[in-house]
Amino acid sequence: MASLKHLVRDSLAWGLERTGLTGAKKRALTIATFHRVLPAELRATYPFPGLAVTPEELDFFLTFFRARYTCGTLAESWDRFRRGDRPERPLLALTFDDGQQDNVDHALPVLRRHGLKASFYLPTDLIEERTLIWHDRVGFALRAMGESPDAIAERTEALKPLDPEHREAEVDALERIAGATPPEWARLMTWEGAEQLLTEGHEIGSHSLRHPLLPTCSDTRLRAELVESKAAIEKRLGIRVQTFCYPNGDADERVAAATAAAGYECAVTTTWGTNHPSAPPFLLRRCDMHPFHTRDRHGILSSAQLQFRLSRQL
Ligand SMILES: [Zn+2]
Repeated sequence: MASLKHLVRDSLAWGLERTGLTGAKKRALTIATFHRVLPAELRATYPFPGLAVTPEELDFFLTFFRARYTCGTLAESWDRFRRGDRPERPLLALTFDDGQQDNVDHALPVLRRHGLKASFYLPTDLIEERTLIWHDRVGFALRAMGESPDAIAERTEALKPLDPEHREAEVDALERIAGATPPEWARLMTWEGAEQLLTEGHEIGSHSLRHPLLPTCSDTRLRAELVESKAAIEKRLGIRVQTFCYPNGDADERVAAATAAAGYECAVTTTWGTNHPSAPPFLLRRCDMHPFHTRDRHGILSSAQLQFRLSRQL
């Protein structure tokens, strides 16, 4: 049964949409965040369902954006924004974190259908080694052990602050106990997949070497994560890497300064919000397109809800 809270939220969102109070702000740059794109039957078996939209849900989001915004890659949108370009429909950048193979399999066809370009962020050492990001390894191991999504999320959060080596040992141990390997569809994309995205006009950016929480890294390690990942993409794909995406969205002043020094043009966090013209280029805010937070009280994806969410913290 729908709660009173949901009812109030729905009517508020509907009212705001009707009066246009949440109309996209022309002066702001909106950056939308996606992670995995999985068909519903795969998402049902994925340990972090909140990090995945289905191709149908992605189609809903892109239909909404295309009607209201001037969409593009982050490099392109940022360049226009920085130069003071304010098109009638405001600028919106589409970003996909983590470099998952499902982005090539399931996001690319939807983007192609809409004629939209996006930015994809790759953890380059992990792409090279064909391994998964540690949180997925933990998630699949715990799922094989019968843990619920809530318990999995909690255990994963607890592992986040550990230093990378210590965490690696914990993850290895967990996988050994679980005795299960993650499914083939959960893999990161290959360099060939990234090449295909590039060929179709999408942007490839860096998401570090190994997806550590950068504020916990030493200066040397931080610099390597920023500089070497950039160089790896540039060498493999023959492009200039322009933008960076902080693993887990985590950045502080030291990390932001090091990212600027590494030669990027801007970088994105996971702090919710849109960006004013005076926004710090290396601490840009984004709006996470969570598949379950954009529904009305009947559980149906709602453009009024999405508009309401996007209007927060402008
Ligand atoms: Zn990530």
